[in-house]
Parts: sequence; structure tokens; C-alpha cells
Amino acid sequence: MRGDLSFLASDLLEGRDTPSRGLDIAAEYIAAQFRTAGLEPGVAGDYFQNAPMVVVEPSYANFDLKLSRGGRGEELVVNPDDAVLRLNAALDLDQAPLFKLDLADADLVEKLTAGQVEGKVVITEFNPKFGSRLRAANRILRTAKPTLTILVDPMGLRAHQEPGHRLESPDDPSISGSPRLTLTGEAAARFYAALKPGTASPGMPASITGHVDAPIRKQVMLRNVVGILRGSDPALRDTCVMLTAHYDHLGMRPPNSGDRIYNGANDDGSGTVSVIEVARALAGLKQRPRRSILFMTFFGEEEGLIGSEYYAHHPVWPLDKTVAQLNLEQVGRTDSTEGPQLSNATLTGFDYSDITSYVQRAGASTGVRIYKHARNSDAYFGSSDNLSLAEVGVPAETLAVAFDFPDYHAVGDEWQKIDYDNMAKVDRAVALALYLMADSDQPVRWNEANPKTAPYVKAWKQREQR
Ligand SMILES: [Zn+2]
Repeated sequence: MRGDLSFLASDLLEGRDTPSRGLDIAAEYIAAQFRTAGLEPGVAGDYFQNAPMVVVEPSYANFDLKLSRGGRGEELVVNPDDAVLRLNAALDLDQAPLFKLDLADADLVEKLTAGQVEGKVVITEFNPKFGSRLRAANRILRTAKPTLTILVDPMGLRAHQEPGHRLESPDDPSISGSPRLTLTGEAAARFYAALKPGTASPGMPASITGHVDAPIRKQVMLRNVVGILRGSDPALRDTCVMLTAHYDHLGMRPPNSGDRIYNGANDDGSGTVSVIEVARALAGLKQRPRRSILFMTFFGEEEGLIGSEYYAHHPVWPLDKTVAQLNLEQVGRTDSTEGPQLSNATLTGFDYSDITSYVQRAGASTGVRIYKHARNSDAYFGSSDNLSLAEVGVPAETLAVAFDFPDYHAVGDEWQKIDYDNMAKVDRAVALALYLMADSDQPVRWNEANPKTAPYVKAWKQREQR
């Protein structure tokens, strides 16, 4: 695993951004390891599931936007350096009315209706203090579809997390969001603070005027990497268990001084090399488990679970015959910000399905304590690629060693900092859990007694009709 990861997380691969040359090289490398291990190609003689996607990049070429509070001299000419765009088409506005969604005004947020904001430009703020109010308002905004939503973010808290580009799946427009403009800087904050909540009085309507070019769209082909270990039981081998991880990471920072490359050794190079290593181990067994095992690495997790979502909508193996997905995230670093994590692993959605009991049994046999993280178990269930499969009904959990570690999403996440002995120990538990799930008479089940599983259980029961 040290050998595999020293390549996959090397500077040469430039942080495995989706899409990038580095990501493509990583995909070829993973496929080569699956081939060497003796896995069957997952898709029509090939290890690649090709996913045609569109990269959408904002264009700032003819950017020109001016906000007005209505009174004389009360204008904000937007500097494109302060603007982060997320548009689907060109924007042309001629005194379009502004609606200030003032999050400090609980009553305004609570009574917000689609009719109030339809055809208007909603201006609101990114303020962690009002996170739950913004989420509540977003539910209305999603159906109301305002012309544009402007998010005032003086400190750049949200803006710095916005990727420079985003991905669209041509056959799943639900991936693309509604038009949004995030504004950083003091000038925007001052303009916003002085604006009246709701729609300003008819005599002095606040408005926005200007033009932004349509984003630039480029077609790309992205790849999930899939290998199959065929099961040994004629009656059960057409069902499968999945072991997955994401092989992409964040790419590179803009050119400046020092290290630019987000190597992503722990996130999620560690999961990727573990998938490869468990594939090698189980492919070498004389007696294979009864069900088949699908080994898979996804692109685009960091862009919003795009690769796994693509797979869930274009499954290689029928979903109603897919018994479970065990997903691996951050299994290499033991120096968690919560303290050392030796011979320890946790699962998200700990009380969501039987996967937990299989992993616990395997942990007991291999000396790895499988514990529930009180705060993160449920909170992180939707944070990785297990969610995409859960949403189409497949019992799915993510196993991790550390949720947070000193170099998380930083350029210092490098392969030298991995605890390889501990990762090997955890992976023995993973391999055994996978074997037990694949060898069991009974398929893995969702825990229907837990109300949080309701949407996934519903999809689980509908799977046969897909
Ligand atoms: Zn990750």
C-alpha cells in the first residue's frame, strides 16, 4: 500500500482533480492493479465505466453588474474579483427588483413564500449564525426559482469552498443548481447592511442591472474504475457486495509561493489503495465467497459525489442484486484531531443497517475496535459516496479511521504521513467483513426500526421496479 500510495499521491498526479490528466493516470493505475490481481473487468471487457460529463466554467470576460438601493449614490458596482459565479446561462438584468432575505428577521424567513421571490433577485447573506434559517429558506427558493440568488459573504467563508468549475451530467440535469452569485468583500457587506428587508418601498425600488456571459461548457469523459471477483455459489453469485472509495481529490491551488498540490493521500488515496489491497487478498483465496464482490473507485466525490451518483443511475450490477456497499474514507491517518486512533475504526450510519454488525464481528476477529461516533455517525452519513447508493436503496455505510486530521483538505496530506501498519490492520477487518457479507445466506438489511433510514428503505423496497 505504501508503494501504491506513493505513486497515487505523488506530485506528478497534481492532486487528481476531476477532470484532469492526473485523475486519468490514477484511473489507469488502479485498472492495472485490478488486472494484476485477476479481477474480471467490470464493464464490457474493460475496467472503466465511462461517464460523459460537461465541465461548466464561469466566464468573467464581459462581467458588468451594478446594484442599486434606490436612493441617489447608493450603488454597488461589483468588482469581478469579488464575485464567484454559478450560472447555467448568460445573465441580462435591467433594473431587476431585489428582495432582501434578511436572515436576522426570523418572521420574514418563516413566512417566506415562493410568490414573494418569483422573478426577483434574492439577496441574502452567508452567516454561520443563521445556518438553519438559510437552509429553511433554501427549501422555498428551490421551488420558487428566483432569477438569481446573491449570497453576501464578506469573509469569503463560502466563496473559498466554491470550486472553480462544476460538473453537469447530460442525462441528469438535477445535478445542476439554480443561478447564484457569491459576493465577497466589505463593499458588498456595507451595501447589504443598509438595504431594507424584503422588497423596498415602491417609490425607491432596490434593483440590479447588468450582464454576465454564459459559462463555458466543455464535454469530458470521466471514469469510475470497476473490477469483479465472481462468487462461488451458482445460486448467489449473481448478487454482489461493493467495496468502494473515491480516487479523486482537490487538484491544485492557484500559482503562488510554495506547495500547490493537494496530494490527497489520506483523502482518499488511503481508501483507494485499500480497495486495491483487499481485492488482491480476496482474489488470492482458494475458496471464494458465495456472492460476487464489486471493487470500485469513484471520480468526482469532492465535486459533490458525482461519480457515485452517476454509478447509482447507471449501475453496472443490477441494484436489486446489490446487497451492500462498504465505502472507505480516510483509513490511513491515525493522528485524528480528536486524539490517536490506533486499532480503531468507525462507521457512518452506525445504526442504519446490518453492515455494522458484520464489520464488528470482523473487527473482533482482527483486533480492531468498531465504535459509534456519537456526533458524526449520523451527521456524516450524507458526506461520502455511500449516500449515492443508499438513495437508490442499497444498504451502504462509510468506514473511517479519522474524520478530521491536521492536513484535511490541505496540501500537507502526503503519503509519508500514513500509518501503514494500522491501515493494514484495519483493512484485514474490512476484507473479513466483506467476505462475511458476501458469504452469508441472508442479504444485508437496512435497520427499519431507525426512522432515519425511511427514505432509503423506501428506495430499497422499490428497487425491483427500477
Ligand atoms: Zn474523501
